[in-house]
Amino acid sequence: MRIGIMQLWQETNTFNPLPTTRRDFEAFGVLRGKEIIDQLSGTNELGGFIRSLRAWPEQPEIVGLVRLPAWPSGRATAETFAWIVDEIERALDGAGRLDGLLFALHGALAADEHPDVEGEVLSVVRRHLGAGVPLVATFDLHANLTPQMVAQADALVGFHTAPHVDVLETGVRGAAVLRRILIEGAKPTTALVKIPMVVPAERANTQDPASISYEFRRRLQALEQRPDVLTAALATVQPWLDVPELGTAVIVTTDNNQALAEHEAAALAGDVWNHRRDYLPELVSAQEGVRRAAECTAGLVVLSDAADATTSGAPGDSTWCLRELLKYPWPHGGALVTLVAPEIVAQALRLGPNAPISALLGGRRDALHSQPVSVDAIVQHAFEASFVLSGHLGVNLAIDMGRAVVLRAGDVRIVCTERSGPHFAPELFQAAGIDPFQAQVLIAKSPCGFRAVYAARSALILNVRAPGCAPSDFQNYPYHHRPHPLWPWEEFSWEAPRLEPGRGASQ
Ligand SMILES: [Zn+2]
Repeated sequence: MRIGIMQLWQETNTFNPLPTTRRDFEAFGVLRGKEIIDQLSGTNELGGFIRSLRAWPEQPEIVGLVRLPAWPSGRATAETFAWIVDEIERALDGAGRLDGLLFALHGALAADEHPDVEGEVLSVVRRHLGAGVPLVATFDLHANLTPQMVAQADALVGFHTAPHVDVLETGVRGAAVLRRILIEGAKPTTALVKIPMVVPAERANTQDPASISYEFRRRLQALEQRPDVLTAALATVQPWLDVPELGTAVIVTTDNNQALAEHEAAALAGDVWNHRRDYLPELVSAQEGVRRAAECTAGLVVLSDAADATTSGAPGDSTWCLRELLKYPWPHGGALVTLVAPEIVAQALRLGPNAPISALLGGRRDALHSQPVSVDAIVQHAFEASFVLSGHLGVNLAIDMGRAVVLRAGDVRIVCTERSGPHFAPELFQAAGIDPFQAQVLIAKSPCGFRAVYAARSALILNVRAPGCAPSDFQNYPYHHRPHPLWPWEEFSWEAPRLEPGRGASQ
């Protein structure tokens, strides 16, 4: 028995003006064939696939196809879309006969002229495999699920957690669903209910008993314990995705019981809709957040700058928080902030350690939402922003954000990297020789995921409202392609649809 595994991973933020290109995928780490099995057996969904398949009594041959990952950023170009399809087709052509396929997706990849990349790519894969070969795909909780995706896969298996601490485990669950279809003869039947709502990420914390998302996670996990349910998930979508099918979704796949799938999906969708207001976060201005951090002496204050969250595909060079940090002394451990700033890294590397540097920082990659700030600083030191990430976003995930420097302006340390990446991760600061938990204030460019590691180790967490590409008040930004009506843009009543027997539907 031969089972193919592959990955296409990128979360698109359509407000980010920087296009995602083939080079971004190559910089993150394209792997082909056996490289995938050799390098990723302990990493994220592919690691979950590999571990599970190795434990099957049938001992299938694991066929590595292609891994195409890029860090969250702007829309992929049309050429990049064509390249992705070409890579996948070539991998499938070269693989020979497959008995099943496991495909790790993000689920919110948009390209120029292709708003539903995963739907189109799954169609390509289905054409290659033929109708009889089981295809199971996994997806991120922030995926934008579409009827096209559902139609092309036998089952779609989603993360249950945000922060995403079950990424590898989702690979394990995906492989288990494939096994039930392939070996045990389960007949997957799926209901997809699109809910006409989009919510910010701050309060969608599935690990916090005070969040409604915690209850929904437990419900989905209980549903998956039923022998007649193959998989169930809630995808709250990432909001900064201006596409025609934008919306939250519940998806339930049963073993040959369409009525059950429809009933459970509709019931959960109705409850998610009824709780939509519970997702709205309390936000403070950058001025207020930084002022309150300066007043706090109880320990680390983390300010979540969601609008510039690099984990949400923002460019990572907003200056709203930096500008405020520079106004205060930070005698209790200093202030820490990050910037994606390749030009500054190059300039600082030319100057060398301990050299003074005068520079305009930030507001370049995204010149619309923030302005550069003039800073006189010292080049403290250079480092390679390369480390292995575990926690939110997975386990054993190799990250390389290129060359990097630490600038110091008063008590503010500014960690500048060449490339985008997880600009909240303790591993980034540790790679810079900095213990982030000893700081007085830290700007986390992440709306919720940072909580997985910082919640227990900080005295105070505040959610900042600043302009940017991944704002929590996204309904105040211009969208041109989203559906109507959609909450919170419009207020209206909605009820989960009764689906036609035998097929999924979207509404
Ligand atoms: Zn996500």
